[in-house]
Amino acid sequence: MEFKCLKTSDNARLSLLWLKDEIELPAFMPVGTQGIVKALLPDTLIDIGYKLMLSNTYHLYLRPGVEIIEAFGGLHKFTNFKGSILTDSGGFQVFSLSDLRKVTQEGVVFKSHIDGSYHLFTPEKVLDIQFRFKSDIAMVLDECPAYSLDKSFVEKSLNITLNWAKRSSVIKRPPHTAVFGIVQGGVFEDLRKKSALEIAGMDFDGIAIGGLSVGESTQEMYDTVASVMQYLPEDKPRYAMGVGRPEDIVRLVGFGVDMFDCVMPTRNARNGYLFTDFGNINIKNAAYAKDESPIDENCDCYTCKNYSRAFLRHLYKSKELSFYTLATIHNLSYYYNLMQRIGQAIKNNSFAEFSKSFLDKRKYGYS
Ligand SMILES: [Zn+2]
Repeated sequence: MEFKCLKTSDNARLSLLWLKDEIELPAFMPVGTQGIVKALLPDTLIDIGYKLMLSNTYHLYLRPGVEIIEAFGGLHKFTNFKGSILTDSGGFQVFSLSDLRKVTQEGVVFKSHIDGSYHLFTPEKVLDIQFRFKSDIAMVLDECPAYSLDKSFVEKSLNITLNWAKRSSVIKRPPHTAVFGIVQGGVFEDLRKKSALEIAGMDFDGIAIGGLSVGESTQEMYDTVASVMQYLPEDKPRYAMGVGRPEDIVRLVGFGVDMFDCVMPTRNARNGYLFTDFGNINIKNAAYAKDESPIDENCDCYTCKNYSRAFLRHLYKSKELSFYTLATIHNLSYYYNLMQRIGQAIKNNSFAEFSKSFLDKRKYGYS
């Protein structure tokens, strides 16, 4: 992996990341939990413009299992996805999906949500799994504590995460896989500082900020990211995990974040919430029953070029499977175009103006 920052506008950065392809940052990564984005053909993701997708180590490890994916020659060959793949470490899923788990310095024991079997994830094991997947970017194991005002709990968790990070940073990695460290520390500025400085001092190819959007207020999330940024090296990509809403992405790019992932565009699409610059459309609403216009006049996606709000509402109400595909194409196109506009604004050295006008527009919502 190579990374180069080309230009900054205010604190926003325009960069290039070389994985299988050259990827312009800031970039949003769609979530393909099981190795595929729900309701979408892998080639459609590429056609929209995406060259990087996120998949989940936890899910793929439990099913179909590492052996099967490895026998196919890795995740790209197994899924036939032609872009690059970042896999998360499984930590977030272990901590959010699994009721029964036990964290020790060694790692975390958890119970499978599929068959109730017990498994141990250690920092070494989750990297080995991702190396065997041939992921382009692997994430280290971390503990993502729930939003908590109990600082001593978050501090204890952070110390375990830092110990895991240290062990991860010295593992020999294959040439085709980059490894990112993860900054934790909840909403506590001193813990975030300690975490950021230590992770920045370890041998990682990129640095992620985890533990965001886990129950803290939006302002707390912005303050946390802004404070962490000052401790991160300029020559590595920065990735805000699990963020988010279009307005959060624009704000965080303004602090210097380069990469994002979130289930929001795809999950909301399947629930009938469609993104536009003027707020989100809830396609269920009766107001759209006879509406001949596309979801968004300004969108050039396949769905907007071909279908009316009225027809999409009919598909949604009829639970037609095509609705999920058409809605996902629109929402992921909206996010892709947003990242393109952000990149253009940085190129034009007008990111602050873009950000202000974008955030003003999003305040006036459809529903
Ligand atoms: Zn569209």
